[in-house]
Amino acid sequence: MSGLLELANDPNARLKRVPVLLPVALDQTYDYIVPPGMQLAPGEFVHVPFGPQHRLGIVWDKPIGPEKPIAESKLKAVIQPIDVPRLPELTLRFVEWIARYSLAPIGMVARMMMSAKTAFEPVKPRFGVAIVPDATEPPRMTPARGKVLDMARDGNIRTKAALAQAAGCSSGVVDGLVQSGNLVECAIPEKVFPQPNPDHVVVEFSDAQQVAVHSLRAQASSRNYAVTLLDGVTGSGKTEVYYESVAAALSSGRQVVIMLPEIALTSQFMRRFEARFGCPPVEWHSALGAPERGRVWKAAASGEARCVVGARSALFLPYADLGLIVVDEEHDGGFKQEDRVHYQARDMAVVRANLGQHAVVLASATPSIESHVNARNGRYTHAVLPGRFSGVEMPEIKAIDMRSNPADKGKWLSPILVEAVNETLAKDQQTLLFLNRRGYAPLTLCQKCGHRIECPQCSAWLVEHRFRKQLNCHHCGFHLPTPESCPKCEAPGSMVACGPGVERVSEEVAERWPDARIAILSSDLIPGLVEMRQVIKSIEEGEADIIIGTQLVAKGHHFPDLATVGIVDGDLGLGQADPRAGERTFQLLHQVTGRAGREQVRGRGLIQTHLPDHPVMDAIITGDREAFLEREIGMRQAAMLPPYGRLAALIVSSKSKELSEAFAKEVARRAPRAERISVLGPAEAPLAVIRGQHRWRLLVKAPRDIDLQGYLRAWMDELPQMKGDLRLVLDVDPYSFL
Ligand code: ADP
Ligand code: ZN
Repeated sequence: MSGLLELANDPNARLKRVPVLLPVALDQTYDYIVPPGMQLAPGEFVHVPFGPQHRLGIVWDKPIGPEKPIAESKLKAVIQPIDVPRLPELTLRFVEWIARYSLAPIGMVARMMMSAKTAFEPVKPRFGVAIVPDATEPPRMTPARGKVLDMARDGNIRTKAALAQAAGCSSGVVDGLVQSGNLVECAIPEKVFPQPNPDHVVVEFSDAQQVAVHSLRAQASSRNYAVTLLDGVTGSGKTEVYYESVAAALSSGRQVVIMLPEIALTSQFMRRFEARFGCPPVEWHSALGAPERGRVWKAAASGEARCVVGARSALFLPYADLGLIVVDEEHDGGFKQEDRVHYQARDMAVVRANLGQHAVVLASATPSIESHVNARNGRYTHAVLPGRFSGVEMPEIKAIDMRSNPADKGKWLSPILVEAVNETLAKDQQTLLFLNRRGYAPLTLCQKCGHRIECPQCSAWLVEHRFRKQLNCHHCGFHLPTPESCPKCEAPGSMVACGPGVERVSEEVAERWPDARIAILSSDLIPGLVEMRQVIKSIEEGEADIIIGTQLVAKGHHFPDLATVGIVDGDLGLGQADPRAGERTFQLLHQVTGRAGREQVRGRGLIQTHLPDHPVMDAIITGDREAFLEREIGMRQAAMLPPYGRLAALIVSSKSKELSEAFAKEVARRAPRAERISVLGPAEAPLAVIRGQHRWRLLVKAPRDIDLQGYLRAWMDELPQMKGDLRLVLDVDPYSFL
C-alpha cells in the first residue's frame, strides 16, 4: 500500500484504474485503482471493497453505465486478483448481450456466471495416508494392523477415516502405523474429470440418420455459427445422432455443453453417455453440493471439463473454449427462467453460438413453433429423422369421448381405459396414467354452505395433498392441516374433495387393481433429483405395473415395458388464455403418449377428452403434425404473435391493491407513442394475488423488426419513482401469462 500512497502524493503520476462489474442489481461498472505492481486483465476475477463489504467482481474491458468521472482520490483499490482462469472476451460480450436484451441489470447477469462460491475460495488440500513400500514390519503386529496394511498395499492415498473404515478398525490403529513409519501422511491429489473419448464406440447409422450425422459433424468441427433443428419422433435416434456432433466438437479440441430440462437429467442419460464416450459427462444441476459446484466451475474455466451435461444454468459456466451447445427437448418450458434475469436458455444458446462462432443443435420430437419457423425460412438447418430406429410403429392413439363413455361417479377412469389397463396387466406389461396435476384434489368445498378453501395470500384454491394430510397452495407454499369441519359454517364432516389429482387417481387404481405394483411420479412426492433417479430406475427395471405421473414422466425417459399410456384429462391445458396453449398441449400429449411401446411391440395411447374434435386433439389422434403446424403457424402469423411479432410483459405488484393498480395505470399512461407498437392493459393478472402481492399486467406487442428493447428502455426512463413496496418486472419474450 505504501507504493500506492507515494503515487497518490505525486501530482504528476496517473493511477491506473479498471472498471469492475459486481454481482449486484446495478447496471454499471465501478472504477477501482490498480495497486502498483498488480497486473490485471479484462475478465479477471478480483476482490474489491464495496460499501462496508468486500465483494467479488469481474474486471471489465470498458466502463459501463452513467458517465460521471470520479476523482481519483475517491477511488478505492482492488484488494487482490483471484486465482481462477479469467473469462474470455466472448463471455463478457455474452453477459452484455443478455443484459441488453432482457433489460436485467448487467450485474445480475454477471452473477449468473459466478454461481459457484467455492470456486473462488482457496482450495484446502485434503490429507490422507499411503503405505511406505519398503518399511520394516511394525514392532507390534496385530490382526487389525495387518488388515490396514493389506488395504493400503494397493498404493492408493486414503483419508485416515476411510482407511480405518475399509479395514474395519478404529482410526487409532491407523495413527499407530503412521507413528511406526509404515504409513505416511500426504496430500490427496484433487480429483480430475475423466476425458471422454470421441472414438470410444463407432456407431453404424441408418441411411436417414447418416444424412443428419454428416451435416452435424461438419458443423460441429468448423469454427462457424450454425444451428440445426434435429427433429424426429421419440426413438428415432436423435440422441445417438447428436452424440456424433458432440464427438466432432470434442475431436476438434473444443468443449461441449448438453442442456436438458432439469428433470430429464437421469442416470439413464449419464449411463448412455458413458457407453458412447467411455466415461460419464460432467454434471451440473441443482442437486450438486457446494464443493462440487466449485470444482465443475473451475473445470469448465480451465478446459478440463470437456463435456458438461446440465440444466439451463449450465449455459453460464465460464467455458474456456466452447464448440457446441446441444439443447435437448428444446421445446421445453423449463428453459425459460422466470425470476431475476428473465431469459430463454434455448434462445441464449443460439446467441452465444453467434457470438462465439460455433454450432448449436436443438433436438426435439415436438419442436417449438419458433424453431419450426426458423427451420422453414432457412435460418436453421432442418435435420429430420423419419421413423423409429427399431422400426416399431408409433403408438396407436385413440380418443375416449368422455361424453359418451363417462367414468363412474367419483371415479376418473372410463370403462374403456379400465379395460385397456386390464389387458395390459394380463400381458405383464406396464401402463402409464398421466394427469398433469399434483396432489389429491384441486379444490375442497363445503357441501353445506358452498365455501371453497382458498389460499389466504394468493388468488388460488388450496390443493389437497392426502399423503401429507394437508391443503397446499401451489403458488406460495402456504399449507394447513386438512380441516375436519368447514372453516366458515363449522358444519362437521362437510368438506368434500372436487376433481382429481394424481394421488386421487392412484387411490382409484389401488382399489381397482389391488395386486398391481403402483409407482407415483410427482415432484412433491419425491424430494430431489437423486431420489427421482432411483424411482425412474426402478420403473425401467420393471418394478411397477402401473405408473401414475405428472409431467415429470414426459421428459426423456425410456421405459422398455411400457405398452399403454392413458391420459386422464387431455383437455387440461387447452382452456388457458395463453398464445402457446395449443402448442403446449400438443407437445405434452405427444411426448407422453410417445413413451408407449418403444422396444418390441407397438404401444397405444388413450386420451380421455370432452373435446375429441378440437384441432389439437385431432392432430394428436391422426398423427397429422403438418396440419397442426400449418394451422398454428398461420394463427401466429395472423395475430403477429411470436415468432412473427415480439412480446414483452410488464408486471406491477404491491401488497396494496390500490397502489399497484394506480401505478400500473400510470405506467400505461407514460408509454411512449409508437406507430407499430401496441400496449395492452393494464389488466389484473389472471393470478391476481400471489403471496399477498396484487399483480397487474401490461403486454407490449411489436413487429419483429422493431427495436423493442430501445422502446422499453425509453419508457422506463419516463416512469416516476416507485413508492413503497411497488415492484415492476420486465419479461421480454414471456412464456407465462398468469
Ligand atoms: P431419441 O433420442 O430420438 O428418442 P434415441 O437416440 O434414444 O432416440 O434412440 C432410440 C433407441 O434406438 C435407443 O435405444 C438407441 O440406442 C437406438 N438407436 C438409435 N439409432 C441407432 C443406431 N444408429 N445404431 C444403434 N442403435 C440405435
Ligand atoms: Zn398461496
